[in-house]
Amino acid sequence: MMLNKQVVIIGAGPAGLACAEMLSELGDYDITIYEQKPSAARKFLMAGKTGLNISHAEDVEVFISRYDHAEWLRPMIETFNAQEIQAWMKGLGIESYVGSSGRIFPNEMKAAPLLRAWLKRLHDRGVKFRYRHQVVAIQHQGLTVLDLVQGQQHQIQTDAMVLACGALSWPQLGSDGKWQNWLNSSTLQPFIASNVGVLVNWSSYLQPIFGQPLKRIRAWVHGQTPQFGEMVISHYGLEGGLVYRCNRDLRKAMQTQHSAVLYLDLLPDLSFEQILQKLQHGKKQSLNTLWQKIGLDKTKIALIRDVVDKADWNEVQKMAHHMKQLAIQIHGFRPIEEAISCAGGIRLNALDQHLMLKNSLYLFACGEMLDWDAPTGGYLLTACLATGRAAGAGVDQVFQQGIKLRN
Ligand SMILES: Cc1cc2nc3c(=O)[nH]c(=O)nc-3n(C[C@H](O)[C@H](O)[C@H](O)COP(=O)(O)OP(=O)(O)OC[C@H]3O[C@@H](n4cnc5c(N)ncnc54)[C@H](O)[C@@H]3O)c2cc1C
Repeated sequence: MMLNKQVVIIGAGPAGLACAEMLSELGDYDITIYEQKPSAARKFLMAGKTGLNISHAEDVEVFISRYDHAEWLRPMIETFNAQEIQAWMKGLGIESYVGSSGRIFPNEMKAAPLLRAWLKRLHDRGVKFRYRHQVVAIQHQGLTVLDLVQGQQHQIQTDAMVLACGALSWPQLGSDGKWQNWLNSSTLQPFIASNVGVLVNWSSYLQPIFGQPLKRIRAWVHGQTPQFGEMVISHYGLEGGLVYRCNRDLRKAMQTQHSAVLYLDLLPDLSFEQILQKLQHGKKQSLNTLWQKIGLDKTKIALIRDVVDKADWNEVQKMAHHMKQLAIQIHGFRPIEEAISCAGGIRLNALDQHLMLKNSLYLFACGEMLDWDAPTGGYLLTACLATGRAAGAGVDQVFQQGIKLRN
């Protein structure tokens, strides 16, 4: 059916672009994307700076279990899963590979070539881009757009609108969260930082190893399953994928107290007994030499010296225990502006199966502004792409069902 409807998408991040792409596949839609920044997908490009981890090659059940609100996301992720994402990239001329940890990257690692090819496809399909245009308000049948170059406001009419404005982290890249003022507060779950660094009070002794990685370790919060990976010691505490994966458990632990303990197994390849034996046999050597021989590198040794009471250093039983279960006192999180992603946003029960807001006909939403959460590892972008495409399909389905926006 030829519909010729106007659809406005607010935000040219991965979710908004995926929505536009889906709509351009489904019908003769007049699609305009309003983006307040001078160019598209700045956070996506930033994500590519250290290697664009766009998805994860693992069993789909395991994949889905990584998310909060996994069952809600399931149909969308199953429709646009890791394999689909690799095929989609290939269709754009971007080959990808699966790393040893299962994470999927474009061969070139960067996001820019993928974004260029993607934008070209959207342009070729007639999608219109209005950069430096900030949406300042939405109404029942339209929106108010501020042209940031001319300094003028315009009223725009549209048949449907898709919010793809992102969450709150890295606001300098565009996701400033101002859209929250447009919606009834009852539809919003307050944002909190997810995948963010944690605060530890280090002594000045640790300064020389700030920025150094703790490699091949396990980390956990009391009562939770240890996770394997690495993290980085920074001047304010700890950063990196492994500490992000412990964020949720740390937050829960902190709900009852003002601090929480993160346990680190610095030698996951050795048992407590093996470490104990090695410590007992090497008693005549200097501590540094002995600890290095056991397998601790300079960063791990510095960390032990900082965290463990000096009185324990020559107590082999106690040291074997510290090496397997080093207790780090965490007393907070870095600000949401520094987080890789946010939890919270539009409550899922405020949306229908088409990702349309239940109380606003023809207003849809997708991407990180929705209240799902996931660790890093490609899960964030996968959900942004999958919900973006689902919102595009949702717009089409609602139009096909013939619900009238304008009376
Ligand atoms: C440093 C960093 C590294 C990351 N690395 C990875 C990674 O490797 N893998 C992964 O899966 N995820 C990664 N992420 C997360 C991922 O980039 C985000 O989850 C994703 O970009 C969110 O997509 P989105 O389209 O929902 O929102 P965004 O990418 O935030 O896009 C929203 C867009 O909406 C625009 N906008 C907002 N309000 C308005 C308005 N009023 N008017 C007009 N335009 C507006 C913004 O300018 C922005 O361009 C990383 C994030 C960061 C910060």
